[in-house]
Amino acid sequence: QTNIHIVGSGVAGIAASIRLALKGHKVTVFERHDKVGGKLDEFQEKGYRFDMGPSLLTKPYLIDELFELAGRKSTFKYQQLPIVCKYFFDDATKLNAYAESEKFANEVEEKLGVPADVISDYLKYSQNIDQNVGDIFLTKSLHKLETFLDPKVLKALVRTPQFDVFTSMHEANERRLKHPKLVQLFDRYATYNGSNPYKAPGILNIIPSLEFTEGAFFPLHGMRDIVNQLHELATSLGVEFKLNEGVDEILLSNNKVISVKTDKDEYTTDAVFSNMDVYPTYRKLLPKAKAPEKALAQERSSSGLIFYWGMKGLKSELDVHNIFFSIDYKDEFDHLFEYKKVTDDPTVYVHISSKEVASDAPVNSENWFVMINVPANNGTQDWDEVIQRSRKNIIQKLEKSLGYNIADHIEVERILDPRSIEQNTASWQGALYGSSSNDRMAAFLRHPNFSSKIKGLYFCGGSVHPGGGIPLCLLSAKVSTDIALKEYL
Ligand code: FAD
Repeated sequence: QTNIHIVGSGVAGIAASIRLALKGHKVTVFERHDKVGGKLDEFQEKGYRFDMGPSLLTKPYLIDELFELAGRKSTFKYQQLPIVCKYFFDDATKLNAYAESEKFANEVEEKLGVPADVISDYLKYSQNIDQNVGDIFLTKSLHKLETFLDPKVLKALVRTPQFDVFTSMHEANERRLKHPKLVQLFDRYATYNGSNPYKAPGILNIIPSLEFTEGAFFPLHGMRDIVNQLHELATSLGVEFKLNEGVDEILLSNNKVISVKTDKDEYTTDAVFSNMDVYPTYRKLLPKAKAPEKALAQERSSSGLIFYWGMKGLKSELDVHNIFFSIDYKDEFDHLFEYKKVTDDPTVYVHISSKEVASDAPVNSENWFVMINVPANNGTQDWDEVIQRSRKNIIQKLEKSLGYNIADHIEVERILDPRSIEQNTASWQGALYGSSSNDRMAAFLRHPNFSSKIKGLYFCGGSVHPGGGIPLCLLSAKVSTDIALKEYL
């Protein structure tokens, strides 16, 4: 039996532990905090429950799959949302993005006067990218020659120009959608991996198909339940979780991992999977190894500034997911990625889980998760100033759009910013999704799921291939363990 050590208990670390334990390996997961789950955290205060990190769930079958691999029925409970998102524009236009694409297309025709075909055709285009290249980019390593020797892959890659690889998402969306409000709506999907639609390649227009073809889902017991259920599954398979034990160093001999040194002990090992952000993995845990500088130099994805507001005595007309758009989207992204600053008119996302689960807030009250995108913390920003200014701007924007006072309803308030995100999860600069995809070659520039220099070292999580967000993290666990099991273990 081989001894495998995993650094970090984010969703990818737990998923990797399950996959490895199912193959008969002895797996230990080190987590420097007193609980597992990383960004998938939650808190409760005065009768309100808040998911602190992710709020939108796509591809939940990737969670079920882990139970199926173990020959069990999934204990993770979720349902599909009928409305993917409610959109509010500055000129008082409101749009419901219905999960049912025909209904959404009709809504767009009615509210914007854009023929329903435009949406139907666009969603087919997005689905087409998914069907042709989704599997290649998301479920295989882009750093193994054999991926490209598969005739199916070669055939799909020849067709990639159709998928707007060589234009930006924004250019592709302008060409296909024309109406500025629709362009803004679909450009926003770049933020699902913390990128800039004016720079990211059009192939990322694959993302809407996740919501409109497969669906947006809602976990009945909170997002945190994902890690609770997976943690339970892993434990039942014999995975050992060592909480409150941070890994300080991965020790090597002849370019091969031999042990992990924690703040408590040293453990000999056959292989290490790092679920810690790849940047600090090299800089802190492997100070003597030669780091892959090109991968580490990639621009960071955006971060987030989140206000968790318990709204007493408020029953709003909002849905589970709501977006209040900025007036000048280009300027907002210039602030995020060019100036590394926060605009005074940010797009505001409001998530209210108590719309589906009433017990997430006291009677006649709502739990608002209010988030804006902000740049990763590169040391030039004054976050206390940003928080104060943005709080005022957000309240002003929401009150203008909704037409009533919201500030007086706030009875609970907590704040998460790039500094605390980095502190909590070791994501370098507090970036939510590792590196950004603001480069045509981004998919290939992301760090692979293995080290080509150090034997026995593998990577899973949002900072490596195929990227951030829960579904991609779960896939990173699959790709990294597949490679290790095939080539090393
Ligand atoms: P992380 O969650 O980053 O966890 C890493 C773990 O490793 C942490 O527990 C950390 O303590 C531990 N660790 C680090 N270093 C060490 C060490 N040296 N020793 C021991 N332990 C260590 N995704 C979506 O799909 N949908 C969304 O709506 C969404 N919204 C988001 C909103 C916010 C505010 C945030 C923060 C994230 C959001 N994401 C969303 C992204 C998603 O949360 C992440 O991509 C995913 O949870 C990252 O998982 P991970 O496996 O990379 O590990």
